Amino acid sequence: MSRRLNRQMVGSLAACVHCGMCTESCHYVLSNPGDPTYAPAYKADRIRKIFKRHFDWTGRVFPWWVGARSVFTDEELEELKDIAFGKCTNCRRCSINCPMGVDFAVLNRMARGLLVSVGIMPEGVAVVSKDQWEIGNQMGVLKEEYLETLEWMSEELCEELGDPTAAIPVDKMDADVVYSINPREVKYDPRTISDAAKIFHLAGESWTMPSEGWDMTNFGLFSGDDELGGAVARRLYEKVIELRGKKLVISECGHGYRSTRCEGPNWAKFDVPFEMESSVLTMLRYVRQGRIMLDRSRNKLPVTFHDSCNNARSCGLFEEPRELLRLAVTDFREMYPNRAENYCCTGGGGAMSMSEYTPRRLKSAKVKADQLAATGAKIVVTSCHNCVDGLTDLIRHYKLGMEVTQLVNLVSNALVVPAMVRVPEAVEVEAPALSLQGYRILVVDDEPDILVFYSALLQDNGAAVIKALDGETALELARKEKPHLITLDLSMPGTDGGQVFEKLRRDPELAGIPVCIITGKPELRRLIYDRPVNPPEGYLDKPVDEETLLRNVRKILRVN
Ligand code: SF4
Ligand code: SF4
Repeated sequence: MSRRLNRQMVGSLAACVHCGMCTESCHYVLSNPGDPTYAPAYKADRIRKIFKRHFDWTGRVFPWWVGARSVFTDEELEELKDIAFGKCTNCRRCSINCPMGVDFAVLNRMARGLLVSVGIMPEGVAVVSKDQWEIGNQMGVLKEEYLETLEWMSEELCEELGDPTAAIPVDKMDADVVYSINPREVKYDPRTISDAAKIFHLAGESWTMPSEGWDMTNFGLFSGDDELGGAVARRLYEKVIELRGKKLVISECGHGYRSTRCEGPNWAKFDVPFEMESSVLTMLRYVRQGRIMLDRSRNKLPVTFHDSCNNARSCGLFEEPRELLRLAVTDFREMYPNRAENYCCTGGGGAMSMSEYTPRRLKSAKVKADQLAATGAKIVVTSCHNCVDGLTDLIRHYKLGMEVTQLVNLVSNALVVPAMVRVPEAVEVEAPALSLQGYRILVVDDEPDILVFYSALLQDNGAAVIKALDGETALELARKEKPHLITLDLSMPGTDGGQVFEKLRRDPELAGIPVCIITGKPELRRLIYDRPVNPPEGYLDKPVDEETLLRNVRKILRVN
């Protein structure tokens, strides 16, 4: 214990005033009313008594007075094991509700680590830790099995897209992105690998997957074994360096993200020389930059979002998954409470590997089941493989009739694949004088198919096209790229075309850029002409055919 004590730990061990404000934060308490042994402060005191006995002067002098006591017997070790592994998922919900700043999850992880160091742990924890030490990943996936899965996913993707260049690159040197995954994806959910590959391919990313050291999960977080945590994280960092990768992208996994990006550098004492990010941010960036386009009407069922404790409470990833979700589905419903106050999936902290506690885990999942049911959603989305398993199990147990999926699956399903879109035949440019070569045109439309149609037409006629699916992105790109012309849809979610138009006109740097309004809602015309700014240079009612669009663009740009 002395080696594990630091300021955060000692603060949490010493600061509890037993006010009980954390009690109702815990899903174990809420689902087991009347049982005080689940209260976070009670559980923490089982660990605290050892600290008091050995490190606190009051416990050394008056142990009977302050309840200080060491652990002597097998029964006492078993009791500690039952609390540390079986009565807490290290979700940290109580931690954020403690006015004294007591982080019980940190204490609990430390207690787990101490128990593991003397060989006391659930069998599942021992097996998984051994696999991660010896085979290099926590599910014992062999290298051949992993590579075969990548090959299989690669073949299917090339076939689906009719494009042999869509194959998954393995061990490519100097890639901009090295993509690491959870072994669960290889073993039980390879679709998430091909979905991610499809997104990288359509975004035109320079990416690769490593042939070894690819597991971004880390059982050291759950077992409390910092040595294992450091060894696993170091393996991945060294592989990225060997491949000279510029950025490590971590697939959707809460504990993998927290271990690799936040805790790993400390455990491994490693100065990581490259950027690391969650694939949620990567996908969102691709959409914002117009590198991929989504048609959210392909995901119509009502969807809710479960914040993984590690992603949200511990790493602050709250808004980005929601922003991406809103772009990928039509019916998103929040569950309450959410973000930092969300309840654990009840499978966290490695609970899914500890089968001896399954009945207790499922009973404690009652509060989560009620929370899910209240949304009325048919699909639960979560950015964590552990949560996928935890939620699937409780949904089955409580017969909720919901499906669990991840953002990567929904984004992949909503992808507008250019080959599948009706792209017009290239228009013959009759004379060089009519070519739009040398002109930069910003096309703004929230309907991906229309965006692709206009862009392809303008590109075929020589223009350089920049695309934006929403008003804010349009303004950002206009400031950055200073296009020669902007074609602007009016009806868009968020900042609508009318607001974009006025902002453009009121900005001295952008006011001179010609704008051609293209709208399917003639009733919105006054949104433009009633504004106290100069009118647009062009105005077209949808549907707009190829000839009309080209004629008007040429007219505004004076290409004739
Ligand atoms: S809220 Fe904090 S101080 Fe109060 S009982 Fe819980 S851990 Fe102790
Ligand atoms: S960390 Fe989570 S599971 Fe553990 S005591 Fe606190 S609220 Fe309960």
